[in-house]
Amino acid sequence: TATPGVTKHAANLSVLAPNYNPLDVVLVSGEGSWVTDVDGRRYLDCLAGYSALNFGHRHPGLVAAAQEQLDSITLTSRAFRHDLLEPFARAVTSLTGTEMLLPMNTGAEAVETAVKASRKWGYDVKGIPDGTASIVVASGAFHGRTTTIVSMSDDPETRDGFGPYTPGFRIVPFGDADAVAEAVDETTVAVLVEPIQGESGVIIPPADYLPRLRALCDERNVLLVLDEIQSGLGRTGTTLAQDLAGVRADLTTLGKALGGGILPVSAVVGRREVLSVLTPGTHGSTFGGNPLACAVGIAVVDLLVPGTLQARAATLGSELRTRLEAMVAEGLLAAVRTVGLWAGLDVEPSLGLSGRETCELLAAHGVLAKDTHGSTIRLAPPLTIEREDLDLALDILTKVLRER
Ligand code: PLP
Repeated sequence: TATPGVTKHAANLSVLAPNYNPLDVVLVSGEGSWVTDVDGRRYLDCLAGYSALNFGHRHPGLVAAAQEQLDSITLTSRAFRHDLLEPFARAVTSLTGTEMLLPMNTGAEAVETAVKASRKWGYDVKGIPDGTASIVVASGAFHGRTTTIVSMSDDPETRDGFGPYTPGFRIVPFGDADAVAEAVDETTVAVLVEPIQGESGVIIPPADYLPRLRALCDERNVLLVLDEIQSGLGRTGTTLAQDLAGVRADLTTLGKALGGGILPVSAVVGRREVLSVLTPGTHGSTFGGNPLACAVGIAVVDLLVPGTLQARAATLGSELRTRLEAMVAEGLLAAVRTVGLWAGLDVEPSLGLSGRETCELLAAHGVLAKDTHGSTIRLAPPLTIEREDLDLALDILTKVLRER
């Protein structure tokens, strides 16, 4: 059924494999927190490319860095050195308080890299028998779409139909440090979790979860690997979500916002002892760490170094939380979970709206957001969003739910 204000273009998309079901909004331009569709309608982007657009669309500093680099060199491959790779690695490791960086492109590649590094560390450094490594992961997690990564998922949509699965993963409930402790044995090389589960609907674990995992990993000689591809780089009001818990992972995966919404840039950062196991010939990527990616990545780090965007995410985030909690009190939402400028909200079931229907209504009123599953939607606007624009988005959400 047609949603008022949303143009129907889906019928023209049949040359595309059907692995997505986007809202029927055809975007042609974007600036800051706003995007415009083919019919000239404007929308506030409250998904921000799943946090890849933490700095908004076409941030002037990032666009300038990319444009300048386009005029010198864009790709060398890792067969040759280039002048921006080490500055990029220095910038990101210094921002994140880590020792070493391995550049890749997409988030899934960074997670694959962390899995490979953990296994090899297990054999080369920890000394477990070759081919026996196990990694403890969390239920409800989302780490990407490759065959190995779907092997660590317990979401049927993500996993089913793609076997045979890569062995070596043990799935335990998210947020349960005791369950992790039980699952760890002498074959375990890593515990790999998101500090806050994004795709699951902004699920925040108990405050002592990460500190307990850190202590457990230290005690059992196991690596703590935190996937900060969605939670990292300012979203939570801190540079990394793990900063909120006062822990430092052995390996952290970064992606999404690292490319400033301009191109895919990901990385694994962490301890030298671990990443050093990936010696020449054992791992790599044609495009990983290319000059254009490094130019944009350095500009991204420059935006985060002063800490003002993180502070802004925290300040706007507390307003977001206040307004959403008022909507819970009013009976429009059943529950909200927020951290920084990131919110998962469950629409009150008695309103009879799925997350998807809510997002369609929001789009019809000029706000773009994304459902996760059931009646849960996620709000993750650019960290650069104007306060009035955030208010506007929340006014529209309130109106859409009140009108049910
Ligand atoms: N890890 C997390 C926590 C994510 O949220 C995502 C994407 O949503 C990924 C990994 C995969 O990233 P990509 O889609 O760039 O492969």
